Order: sequence, then C-alpha cells, then structure tokens
Amino acid sequence: MPKQTPEDRVKNFDEVAQGYPPDWALGEASRCIQCPKQPCVTGCPVEVDIPGFIRAICELDLPEAVRILKSKNSLPGICGRVCPQETQCEAMCTLAKKGAPLAVGRLERFVADWELVHKSSVGAESPLAKRRGKKVAVVGSGPAGLVCAADLAKLGYQVTIFEALHAAGGVLMYGIPEFRLPKRIVQAEVDYVKSLGVDTKLDWVVGRIISVDELLHDGFAAVFLGTGAGSPMFLNIPGENLSGIYSANEFLTRVNLMKAYLFPEYRTPINIGKVVVVIGGGNVAVDAARCALRLRAKEVRVIYRRSRAEMPARQEEIENATAEGIDFRLLVNPKRFIGDEMGNVTGIECYEMGLGAPDETGRPRPVIKPGSEFIVPADTVIVALGTTPNPLISQTTEDLKIAKQGTIIADGRTGQTSKRGVWAGGDITTGAATVISAMGAGRRAATAIDTWLRDFR
Ligand code: FAD
Ligand code: SF4
Repeated sequence: MPKQTPEDRVKNFDEVAQGYPPDWALGEASRCIQCPKQPCVTGCPVEVDIPGFIRAICELDLPEAVRILKSKNSLPGICGRVCPQETQCEAMCTLAKKGAPLAVGRLERFVADWELVHKSSVGAESPLAKRRGKKVAVVGSGPAGLVCAADLAKLGYQVTIFEALHAAGGVLMYGIPEFRLPKRIVQAEVDYVKSLGVDTKLDWVVGRIISVDELLHDGFAAVFLGTGAGSPMFLNIPGENLSGIYSANEFLTRVNLMKAYLFPEYRTPINIGKVVVVIGGGNVAVDAARCALRLRAKEVRVIYRRSRAEMPARQEEIENATAEGIDFRLLVNPKRFIGDEMGNVTGIECYEMGLGAPDETGRPRPVIKPGSEFIVPADTVIVALGTTPNPLISQTTEDLKIAKQGTIIADGRTGQTSKRGVWAGGDITTGAATVISAMGAGRRAATAIDTWLRDFR
C-alpha cells in the first residue's frame, strides 16, 4: 500500500498508509480463490463474509461489498486500519500456504473509504420500522459499546450510549494516533451508529452522575458495560514521581483527544524533551514513541524487557517505527529513575535481561542479568506497561462480581454478568485486548440481550 516516506511522515500527524487506489484493490481482490471452506471467515472474530465482499469488489459492485461488510461489522474503516489481520483472517487464508495471504484488511479499508464518500448504506437500515419500545443503556463508546449499540438499534431497541469523555469512540478516539487512525474515520463510523437511531450522551460518568442501578430503575430494561481498561499501570520503582514521566494514557490523550500536537491552536500543551524513552513493547508503546518523534524529540528509544519476537505490538507498526528512526533497546528493564536536584527525570538505571523458561503467558520469562546495570539517559519518559479497568463502576454497582485483576466477570459467550439485567464486554472483561475482540463481545452481548428481553421479561 502506498505510504508517506519515513522522512516526510515524521514531520506530520497525517495518515501514514494512503490506501489502495482502485486498480490495486481490484488486482488484490482478484487473487482470492473463493475457497469453499472459507478459512478466513473462521479467523474473523465477527465472522465477516470475507469471500462475499471480495467477490463484490471483483464484480465492481461496491455498494454490495459495503452491504456485506456492514452486515457483520459496523466499523469497517477502523478495523481495516488497526485490526491485527496478520494473526486472524489473513493468518488462516489459504494463499498464505504458498505466499502472501490476501490483504483482507487493506481491502476492507478500501471498501469502507469508498463508502465514506458515496454513503451507499445511509438509510439502508431502518430500525425505526421495527421499534420494540424497550430501552437499553450502553456505558462506554469504545468499539464494544458502539457495536453493541448498533446491533441493538438494528434490532429495534431504543439505545442510549453514556460516555464519560467529551467525544465518542473510546481508545479509537483518545488512544490510537491520527497517523494510524484518522479521527474523521472514527467520527464517520460513530455517526453511522448514531444514524441507526442511537442517542449519545457525552460527559456522562456512570458511577458519578448516575449509577447502573439508577439506569435500571429509570426505565432501561438492560445495561451493557463497555467501559474498557483505561487506568494506567506503573512500574512502582524508585523515582517514578519525577517530573517528565508520563503514563502513556495521559500522553496519548493529550496528543490525540486534546490535539496537543496542534497547540496553541488547541489549548492543551504537551511538554516533550529532546531525549524520550518509552517503556513497554505493545501498540501503546510504539504509538507513544512515534508521537514523541512527531513532536520533534531528537532521539526516541523504546525499551522492552523481552526480545522482539515477544513484542505484542503489530509487526507492521514496529517496522514503520523502525523506518522512522525509533531505536528499540530489547532485553532491557528499568531498575530506578534518576533525577536532578530540581526533581526532573534525567535517566533510567536499567538491567540487561535474559530469557528464561516460559511463564504463565507462555512467553519466555525475562530474567535479570546480575551486575548488568547501566544508565539510559532521558529527559522525558513515557510508561506504557498496560492498563487495568477503572474501579468506578465496580465500586458503585451492587451484586457485580469482579475478578482479582479488577475486570468484570461475565459469561464469555453472552457477556452476562452476575447482576440481573447487566451485560459486559470488551477490555472491561478481558483486560487490555484488541478492537475486534471488543467488537465481538459487543455483538455477542447484543444478541444475548435481545434474547433475554424477548424471552424472559
Ligand atoms: P475502550 O475503547 O477503552 O472504550 C471504553 C469507553 O468507556 C471510553 O470511551 C471511556 O471513556 C468510557 N468509560 C469508561 N468508564 C466510564 C464510565 N464510568 N462512564 C461512562 N463512560 C465510561 N487494538 C487493536 O486491535 N489494534 C491496534 O492497533 C491497537 N492499538 C492500540 C493503541 C493504543 C494507544 C491503545 C491504548 C490501545 C490499542 N488497541 C489496539 C487496543 C484497543 O484499542 C482496545 O482493546 C479497545 O479499544 C477496547 O475497546 P472497549 O470498547 O472495550 O474499550
Ligand atoms: Fe479468499 Fe483467502 Fe478467504 Fe480463500 S482464505 S476465500 S483465498 S480470503
């Protein structure tokens, strides 16, 4: 896919990948051999009819490709950009046995971007025609909440999304940077969900302004909790309170949601030093590092305690980051932060690490090499170690069973929680995961809520 060159793209926040021109899309789509067993569909967590939408591209029937895609996936422009297809549908593609798998994600993006201009699906769904007269509340507007809301609206329910922030979209809006997922794409897909009749209440912190129990007493027949895992985790090592150390959540929220990269046009500033060190190995770490580079840091380094093979970030994004000049220091783990007399961070004392026997995650356990301490200089540090659920909902909702890690306990197939009338899905039940797994959970919960509201109420 055409991309901005690394030299150009580090100077702006515009999208890196430019999308397939139509003839490229057609050429790629025509590689699909329409396997009768459809292994790619098995690999897709929301079971998109992949051969079906690819066939429609080959037949130059893009409205039909949109219809097929959107019947299973309400957010194709987002999934086409950020889903890890390489470990899902594309990993199962028959073509991968002998060469490159079909570029399903890029073709999904091509169809979604065509739809953004042509709007062939607008008005195609008419949920009002089958109104059921029951209200459902969805808490959180990330991919889990959006998909749950869209599916329930299509089934005729009156759905209201309650979102704590001033913009809908969850991590898609406040976490993933503009150069990977433009906010106009997220907004367009949020607008599509709204076009189905879904009402969105922004700046509504459930657990503060209204509780889950109050929602149930106020006429909502069911509640879906899709509040994500937005609380940052820290290393808990000496010096972590020094000035110049950000959590990745704060850093990315300032940059993406508050548009600090456009300061002073937007009012939120971001203070960034010349030498930035990001700690972590996932998508969040790589996104934070690439933002820091675009904010004119001279050197950006990512330190990660395992090797490259274990890095959870998407391979494509690690390659993009490397081409942009991010320095990955692998098998390195912080021991303590070092500061100056003013309380500003100046560096990190680190250990060199080795790899031991697999741990409970199945990955080799990182092991400290004794006596290997060395200093990594830094005047800004971004800690991207993962996130846990915010405890607000669990602390303010009676009868909701919570796991040790703070996630809500819910049935994996239906999303039903321990509390009558309440379902949950996405990162709030699994811990930090992926967009598509959150969407799948939203879909399964919508089906279960529909069944419950028809059968048992
Ligand atoms: P979220 O997207 O977290 O949305 C939850 C929403 O609930 C938020 O808007 C929040 O404000 C709201 N909320 C929370 N509490 C309340 C409350 N009390 N009242 C009202 N609203 C509330 N996944 C991928 O598949 N590919 C990627 O490339 C990728 N990159 C990522 C990069 C970054 C920087 C981050 C942070 C994550 C990335 N992920 C990626 C992970 C993915 O974005 C998440 O797994 C996914 O967004 C989870 O969806 P969700 O709907 O469960 O929660
Ligand atoms: Fe096409 Fe690959 Fe799916 Fe086969 S597995 S139908 S080649 S996308």
